[in-house]
Amino acid sequence: MQMELMKASDRKPIGKLPVVRNFRQIIESRDISLMNKEVYQFLNLYCGFIAHYNINGFKATYRRPESFAGVFIRHFDCEHRYFNGTYPCHEEPYRETGYTKADIKRELTCIVELHKELITRWAEQRQRDERHNIYLNLKKEFETQGFKLNCEACGNEYEVRVLKEGEDFNDFGIICCLFCGQQIKLY
Ligand SMILES: [Zn+2]
Repeated sequence: MQMELMKASDRKPIGKLPVVRNFRQIIESRDISLMNKEVYQFLNLYCGFIAHYNINGFKATYRRPESFAGVFIRHFDCEHRYFNGTYPCHEEPYRETGYTKADIKRELTCIVELHKELITRWAEQRQRDERHNIYLNLKKEFETQGFKLNCEACGNEYEVRVLKEGEDFNDFGIICCLFCGQQIKLY
């Protein structure tokens, strides 16, 4: 049976279609894990994505900020080489929505257009934060710890790091306070 396009007055606004709403949610939250099956199928069939084993494989591929910003959204960025244009077959109705696949693709492209600059910056910041965390952890791991001193005589608490012939040295018999000269008990 041939499906006919609904009259324009019978259909809901394109932004209210479940497929568009879920896509917008993904873009606004920058979170591919929110993707439902309908969007997954729509993207696979009409938006030029490479085949994935299943929906979880798809989500895993675009989960990281650099993949989300650099690959996933670029399928809807007409200035990018990953952009997938519309073909004559996309002019067919999409389910019983009253819209064509091409209409929906254009709507998805508009949503990405609104967010792509912010998503690009967000991904850069996220990558920077990740590198900074790695740096902090490495720093903590490899940094030589100073020697904590607490002088009971003058009350100063401080930390010293002693290098002997370029090497860290902390094998002291006796140590005297740098401030008052009294001997400090080493524990
Ligand atoms: Zn002291």
